[in-house]
Amino acid sequence: MDRVQVIEAAGDYVDSGGLEADLGRLVARRSVSQSEGRWEELQAYLEKEMQPLLLSMGFSVEIFDNPREGGAPLLIANRIEGEGLPTVLVYGHGDVCNGEAHRWREGLEPFRLTREDDKLYGRGTADNKIQHLINIKALELLIRKNGRLGFNAKIILEMAEETGSFGLREFFKANRDRLLADVLIASDGPRLAIDTPTMFMGSRGGMSFNLIVNLRDGDHHSGNFGGLLADPAIILAQAIATITDARGQIKIAEWRPTSLTPDIRAVLRDLPPRRHDADWGESDLTPSERVFGWNSFAVLALSSGNIDAPQNAISGSARATCQLRFVVGTDIDNIIPALRRHLDANGFPMVEVRAARGEAFQATRFSPDHPWVRFVEQSLTRSAGRRPHVLPNLAGSLPNDAFTEILGLPTIWIPHSYAECGQHGPNEHVLIPIAREGMQVMTALFLDIAENAASL
Ligand SMILES: [Zn+2]
Repeated sequence: MDRVQVIEAAGDYVDSGGLEADLGRLVARRSVSQSEGRWEELQAYLEKEMQPLLLSMGFSVEIFDNPREGGAPLLIANRIEGEGLPTVLVYGHGDVCNGEAHRWREGLEPFRLTREDDKLYGRGTADNKIQHLINIKALELLIRKNGRLGFNAKIILEMAEETGSFGLREFFKANRDRLLADVLIASDGPRLAIDTPTMFMGSRGGMSFNLIVNLRDGDHHSGNFGGLLADPAIILAQAIATITDARGQIKIAEWRPTSLTPDIRAVLRDLPPRRHDADWGESDLTPSERVFGWNSFAVLALSSGNIDAPQNAISGSARATCQLRFVVGTDIDNIIPALRRHLDANGFPMVEVRAARGEAFQATRFSPDHPWVRFVEQSLTRSAGRRPHVLPNLAGSLPNDAFTEILGLPTIWIPHSYAECGQHGPNEHVLIPIAREGMQVMTALFLDIAENAASL
């Protein structure tokens, strides 16, 4: 089958209802990895859905226990066609967030796929079931029509992404040889614009921490003690005010990245406009540079006293949970020490910095000039008839460092959803036109890899 026929067949799979039927079965599996979930459902997703599909495509399939106690299972599938051929690793996660059925609007249920016009509703549709389904179905289409892929493919599926990819890094370290490849091509997250494919090569990192001012036990009468006892809420507010200026520009030198180089700026120049407040963030940067090429500090929560029933008293303590989102070029191990030095230098040794629960995410990014990136960009341009939006990294965070740091792979993500898809909330859905184009560009991309296997 040639390129035009392959693209046509990919569109037919969506138009004939094939994708909807396949997605419907996956959504009906209640593969929740959060508090509402059951281990058996996670195992069933791999054993009853993914394993038979991949076996029918000529892959060898193995399901593994999580290396960490109580963790979710993982699946590796391989189809090795030749030693000299390039090997593509595909990743997906079959687990989903809690269903929260009571929050969905009437007529919708989290674990029943519902079609309304060009939308398919259901928990996990966007995050991440349609995304890995499309990529696997694109591989299947080539195998069925051409009898072979023309390259080697490996697939890794985890079932714990929504709980911070528990055990994924340990699993990668223990199974590094099984996962070796030339490139990761995977899908997650939203496109930048509905009508244009997006690709990104990494993600911002994220680290959360608490700032605590704990001066004494209990509250003290504000008349008898005001002006005598230090007020922890005022101290905390003043301390936070030294971290950024009034428009949120970071003032800690070590927290300001050095990686916004001319080539990254050039990539960010052509992106569509984003919603933003004109008087917020780094004044010298464009909105795209602020969110994809820079670091941002946020106060996620702030508390002292009882805001619903304030007492005439000076609290004993105040607390803030804060977060730094950061790009490559920020030393993750120096984030907290730099903050400590900054607070001490500004007269706030009484402000304690304590790590928040949950793992920190590393920042990753691959050069837009890497040969694999150029190759994928050209393939998407040819298939879609327009250039994709190319981001050096996603603004959010992903376990991408497991691929770049442990496996040493270039990573290319091609999302099949959009920003308003409601992932992690009620009424999660995908758009059929994006899914259709996603199916077409992925099938054509895999064909292009096969046809250029000698030079990749
Ligand atoms: Zn998610």
